[in-house]
Amino acid sequence: DLAPLRRALLSVSDKTGLVDLGRALSERGVELLSTGGSAKSLRDAGLDVRDVAEVTGFPEMMDGRVKTLHPMVHGGLLALRDNDDHLAAMNEHGIAPIDLLVVNLYPFEETVAKGADYDTCIENIDIGGPAMIRAAAKNHAFVNVVVDVEDYDALLADMDQHNGATCPKFRKKLAQKAYARTAAYDAAVSNWMAAAIGVQAPRRRAIAGKLAQTLRYGENPHQQASFYTDGSDRPGVATAVQHQGKELSYNNINDTDAAFELVSEFLPSGGPACAIIKHANPCGVARGDTLVQAYSRAFDCDRTSAFGGIIALNQPLDGATAEEISQIFTEVVIAPGADEDARKIFAAKKNLRLLTTDGLADPRTAALTYRQVSGGFLVQDKDNGTIDASDLKVVTKRAPTDQELSDMLFAWKVAKHVKSNAIVYVKDGATVGVGAGQMSRVDSCRIAARKAQDMAETLGLPTPLTNGSVVASDAFFPFADGLLTAAEAGATAVIHPGGSMRDDEVIAAADKAGLAMVLTGMRHFRH
Ligand code: 5GP
Repeated sequence: DLAPLRRALLSVSDKTGLVDLGRALSERGVELLSTGGSAKSLRDAGLDVRDVAEVTGFPEMMDGRVKTLHPMVHGGLLALRDNDDHLAAMNEHGIAPIDLLVVNLYPFEETVAKGADYDTCIENIDIGGPAMIRAAAKNHAFVNVVVDVEDYDALLADMDQHNGATCPKFRKKLAQKAYARTAAYDAAVSNWMAAAIGVQAPRRRAIAGKLAQTLRYGENPHQQASFYTDGSDRPGVATAVQHQGKELSYNNINDTDAAFELVSEFLPSGGPACAIIKHANPCGVARGDTLVQAYSRAFDCDRTSAFGGIIALNQPLDGATAEEISQIFTEVVIAPGADEDARKIFAAKKNLRLLTTDGLADPRTAALTYRQVSGGFLVQDKDNGTIDASDLKVVTKRAPTDQELSDMLFAWKVAKHVKSNAIVYVKDGATVGVGAGQMSRVDSCRIAARKAQDMAETLGLPTPLTNGSVVASDAFFPFADGLLTAAEAGATAVIHPGGSMRDDEVIAAADKAGLAMVLTGMRHFRH
């Protein structure tokens, strides 16, 4: 039904695959038009190319700000091929139709990511490219628009299936993608500007993403779902390489993110660390002298829950750790690398997914988080708050020992990653009880202690591991009851933000129970 493609305009910043595409189009009888740098690449490869400047009768000017913004180009993209008026206008002004537009834009996002200065970022806002993309996409009844290098092959394949033309459905898909690309581009520009000029709550906000994976289903089988990357390219589940196992599910991705973000709180310089996650909450986090020891200690916090869990490591996975992990069913392991031995051992575990990242996440990185509510969404800064020993205020008669202090800082880091109300008992750099997501803080204290008791029975220990532990609470104790529950479980020191109306009452209870207590002045609610 449609005539074969006759004329293409190629104008790309990322020149990957350009020459191959140009050659393939030439071979199919398509005339090539192009802008400065793109034309040069094509010409250097021996291809026949016409300069857009020749078509417009204007040189590219103002540092490239004005190249293709001309009726000879936009008329060729926008003219309806079956409209007599449009055809007459083309005739009168000598405008030739353009059947294919291949554009990728000035690398604005990459320029921002590199930390370029304001003026450099501004200069990297593409104007003519998006204008052409939007024009070609609007006219998808006749025009093909390609904005991704990864679509070059699909274009050629569709042409070959249709005697050099393309099918309408294919052009519609290209057009939809093209509008998402220009929208994402402008979202990146406006989000960058909001940050650059210090606007906290921009009146309008755009969010954009690129499909990373269509998911089999969402949180439950009756929910459709998909996974998008935001282009920030940071180490994490979105950029990790999967080496084996089934496709990640929606819940896997959510939990793997939680695991990796948590373990990234523990710098490798402080030794190996491991976090085991279930339903986005940690059921064991530990340091160790070796990675395998860190894993075993994390596992011993709550062996029951760890089954079918997600494991994150702060160092490359080694053989010994892989062997130990292989003893039970695990959904996902994520680590900043994995050695040969580890890969061999995991290769026998077909269902286990192994992901490796390029380093750890930086917990101090500024980012935004989004949450959907009926009729809108909430935006906030990511919780990138961290503290060290110098931020702590001792409020009890007894000051914490060095061991208590180090365990409290460990517990505090973990508590930040536990759903509120969060209570975390820690002993010797390992969690020994985690209470998560309860509606009352005292319940979280009780549940964590109960779990520790259960584990003591499993491990055949005379007393629960909470005996002689420290405890962290993500927010202040509104009453002394939670604190007293922790003391009963054997905790000797407490870390929490403070700031309750009844702080005095809580401090007095701590003194009476002989506890050491420190305040952080920072809260880590997580919902
Ligand atoms: P080239 O390397 O071919 O000289 O430039 C290609 C880039 O120029 C593409 O990223 C394309 O989107 C962009 N571009 C094409 N026309 C215009 C225009 O009129 N103004 C601006 N600012 N960019 C353009």
